[in-house]
Amino acid sequence: MTKKNVKEHHDVYHTELNNNMNDILNRRQFLKASIGATLIGVSPFTALSSHAAALGMEAKVDLQKTRLFDTHFDDDIFVTESNKAVLSSVYERFRRIINVVGYTRFALIDFDETLKIARNYPQVGVFPKEDIAFLEFIFYFDAKVYGFWGDKLLTEIDVNLSRKSVKKISGTAQYLFRGEAEKVYGKIHKVMGNRVILTSGVRGVVKQLYLFLKKVRGSKGNLSMASRSIAPPGHSFHGVGDFDVGKTDFGYRNFTSSFAQTDEYKRLTELGYLNIRYPKDNPFGVRFEPWHVKVV
Ligand SMILES: [Zn+2]
Repeated sequence: MTKKNVKEHHDVYHTELNNNMNDILNRRQFLKASIGATLIGVSPFTALSSHAAALGMEAKVDLQKTRLFDTHFDDDIFVTESNKAVLSSVYERFRRIINVVGYTRFALIDFDETLKIARNYPQVGVFPKEDIAFLEFIFYFDAKVYGFWGDKLLTEIDVNLSRKSVKKISGTAQYLFRGEAEKVYGKIHKVMGNRVILTSGVRGVVKQLYLFLKKVRGSKGNLSMASRSIAPPGHSFHGVGDFDVGKTDFGYRNFTSSFAQTDEYKRLTELGYLNIRYPKDNPFGVRFEPWHVKVV
């Protein structure tokens, strides 16, 4: 995409964003989500008042919500019903891109490369206009509105990740940023050997978009609930240096509070190597993440 195109693209996007915002604040349907057999309805008024609170920039992290991060709450914010189909379409296309480029390389590809791959591989298929608008909407939407209070670290969706700034970590399918992240991980590896592994390193904007939308999809469109477990795109410290570690052969439990019960976690903590980004009851609206190492 040329610079001019990018600008036009973003102008179009901003118009769409405003329209989408009105859409979100005016329509009821997005506020309904099915949880089992129950339909939860939240009045547009609730959405408006939480939006007003967000615009007032008054951080009001609800600790009850972050402790029960995987629960639907009455005033959670959902994507609209009409956007749920787009959400599925985008998610499936990302899956097809992963099949083409592989999960490892997927961590590094930027937005324009993603669109290009979709164009070049018939088995992926071009992103329809509404899918691109949706991705931009998700990226540029103010995450505070749905309850995520962390800073936005990457402010443009098409930011490029320099391949020279990262290094593939042997024995893993992950990259780390050269410099501090590599050093911190090196120290951990030296002391813990193969007992501790790198479970998630560098994530470009596109990978974060994918992971966030995967969570939103699994949360039946609930943006608030998704953001209690994973930073929205642009807000993840995996995009600037942080990484996740786990106990070898501990599987998905490495991403649960069970990790904090392991000897590996205790040892790393004693050594002072686990500088946790999201401790218990952090002010960002994110659940306790004992596995996420703060580097930056
Ligand atoms: Zn993490």
